[in-house]
Amino acid sequence: MDFETVIGLEVHAQLLTETKIFCSCSTKFGGAPNSHTCPVCLGMPGVLPVLNRKVVEYAIKMALATNCRINKSCSYARKNYFYPDLPKGYQISQYAYPLAEHGYVLLDVDGEQKKIGLTRIHMEEDAGKLMHDEHNPVSYVDLNRTGVPLIEIVSEPDMRTPAEASDYLKRLHEILVYLEICDGNMEEGSFRCDANVSIRPKGQKEFGTRTELKNMNSFRNVQRALEYEIKRQQYIVEHGGAIVQETRLWDDAQGVTNSMRSKEEAHDYRYFPDPDLVPVIVDDEWVEKIRRELPELPLVKRERFVNDYQIPAYDAGVLTADKALAHYYEEVVRLCLSPKAASNWVMGDVLKFLNEEKRDIRNCPITAVALAEMIKLIEDGTISGKMAKEIVEDMYKTGKAPQDVIAEKGMVQITDEGALGAVIQKIIDASPNQIKDYRGGKDKLFGFFVGQVMKATQGKANPQLVNELLKKMLAG
Ligand code: ADP
Ligand code: MG
Ligand code: ZN
Repeated sequence: MDFETVIGLEVHAQLLTETKIFCSCSTKFGGAPNSHTCPVCLGMPGVLPVLNRKVVEYAIKMALATNCRINKSCSYARKNYFYPDLPKGYQISQYAYPLAEHGYVLLDVDGEQKKIGLTRIHMEEDAGKLMHDEHNPVSYVDLNRTGVPLIEIVSEPDMRTPAEASDYLKRLHEILVYLEICDGNMEEGSFRCDANVSIRPKGQKEFGTRTELKNMNSFRNVQRALEYEIKRQQYIVEHGGAIVQETRLWDDAQGVTNSMRSKEEAHDYRYFPDPDLVPVIVDDEWVEKIRRELPELPLVKRERFVNDYQIPAYDAGVLTADKALAHYYEEVVRLCLSPKAASNWVMGDVLKFLNEEKRDIRNCPITAVALAEMIKLIEDGTISGKMAKEIVEDMYKTGKAPQDVIAEKGMVQITDEGALGAVIQKIIDASPNQIKDYRGGKDKLFGFFVGQVMKATQGKANPQLVNELLKKMLAG
């Protein structure tokens, strides 16, 4: 049977506010267990939550960047369940009246744009963390994370392959980081994804029963978990079984998903409006102010790079994947005015060095000014492209300007016609037999002369000039 896959993702992003969503405790990651807590986030009786305005502002930013409709009024609801990392016994979230709805993100699928719908974006609080003792049968509770603000971004079931799902996640991640409202750290859990997946026979309208996958902490693992789960569901259906709606955990070591619990339904949570919090009114003026402050978004930047710098879409994609990298690139171009050369050096050598050390462009030892200088030195013939390869490596290691590296290594290219002519004349004088053979029609000897010049100049002669002069002088 031919199956089609249906995927919808729920993403939780921790917001980079200084303080928690309903109290003034720090949101900093790490810190001694339970040191970032107070009666509010510990869920003591008799205390009241106070909404952090920054949380709403950041959530609006994301809603605008993903083309959502922002509701003029939204409110908080209690989602009731018991778990030791949830001291209040309920999570404050949004249910019937979320902040924003009906958005979309654009993907590039096989060269065509595909819209992935966003059902909603809402605000909620994070839960704490359980720490399990490896050697003893005990667990500890750390409530530092309790009350850290989250936005949940729920997609429509619009994705059809694990690759699309992974691409969608990368786009969301990119936007959040560009907006500087989330650090995007998947390993530390500031960007988390639950993946819902089902299969159906090709051509069937109704969706199949879905499973929900959790515990994937990288883009790659989201894709791997989905690939495994699709195969598992197909196997069951092909053998006459039925998919059970449930939550499954990704096991990274074994590369499989395992059943965790049967899927809860919304009514299990007994959602009800939180009586401690008033509705949030979002007026147009506030939204417009935030809209004006939005930075240029990745997709727009990408298109601008292709149009303004005439670089391939591939280059633009790599260079804009990180806002700081894009800025670095634009600085180099502004200074050397050679967009394609700049893109080659940034994407090639600079990124290679940085990746080898898992270093960030913000800490790159080669400044944009230095790289631009180097590109100009190639273009004015001072150094050859081959010399530049060596020079740029030195610049990275030492943080020195290209001129200093060149001076130290004595690497300046010989571009002086007179000086080079003299070298060539000496070689001609010393090779009477080869000259005779060359002039007699043995064209291959041209390479011999090039070799001689390069040897005499220790490879510093400008190759084009050597060619030109040799042609002229060997002709007699
Ligand atoms: P819950 O909050 O209980 O997980 P939601 O209705 O909010 O349920 O849906 C969660 C996600 O599941 C959404 O991203 C949605 O697109 C996706 N989804 C819903 N039905 C299916 C399905 N049959 N197959 C795959 N994904 C689905
Ligand atoms: Mg869910
Ligand atoms: Zn607190």
